[in-house]
Amino acid sequence: MSAKDWPPRWPDVNDPAVLDAMAAVPRHLFVPPQYRDQAYEDIPLPIGHGQTISQPYIVALMTQALSLRPDSRVLEIGTGSGYQSAILAHITPTVRSVETIAELAEAARERLQGLGYGVCVRAGDGRLGWPEHAPYDGIIVTAASPDVPPALAAQLAEGGRLVIPVGEGSWDQMLWLIRRDGDRLQKQFLADVRFVPLVASASPHEPEDTALTQIRKELQSLFSRR
Ligand code: SAH
Repeated sequence: MSAKDWPPRWPDVNDPAVLDAMAAVPRHLFVPPQYRDQAYEDIPLPIGHGQTISQPYIVALMTQALSLRPDSRVLEIGTGSGYQSAILAHITPTVRSVETIAELAEAARERLQGLGYGVCVRAGDGRLGWPEHAPYDGIIVTAASPDVPPALAAQLAEGGRLVIPVGEGSWDQMLWLIRRDGDRLQKQFLADVRFVPLVASASPHEPEDTALTQIRKELQSLFSRR
């Protein structure tokens, strides 16, 4: 496949804003030079440090699930190459992204800036979110977590959406959409997926406040139901 037949037709991706973003963002500029000739194939590719740029179909599916509008405030966890950040930034100007590997964060920040995308990138443990700028209308996690980090659910705005792969191993991960509806959370299964793990790097911090404890309980009950 070449850039001119891009993006492919995915049966379940039909949001025009998402398809426009996929058509506009030059994926070959987000992969290492030796993989450029594969940039317009619908596959994940290595980006160094044992990490990968996600499969374009999954990027499109996750972005569509966020139901973004041009004024949505978005937080991404797992900046990696910055490709997903650029797709988001094509739809809304308010995008922040947290990456745990400092070198990847720095490289993505420069790449995004060079391409004119105003994404704020921070190095740190994304399991804690980015509370200073919360709440977010959309939070997208691009690495798989054994559970939903409560801080992320807590940083959702009313009606906000969190898209996150949940699972321990490589083979039993499920992509979920979680919606905040008042004090309640709802979940919807999106797809079986395979992501690199969301690593725990921050040391345990202050004791949880009651709001976070409440959300942790809500998440536990949400995922104990089928
Ligand atoms: N969205 C990226 C895909 C990156 S792969 C892209 O479009 O290229 C997942 C990324 O999550 C990796 O770069 C990995 O270093 C990062 N990551 C893993 N655990 C993390 C954590 N706790 N906080 C922030 N980033 C994390």
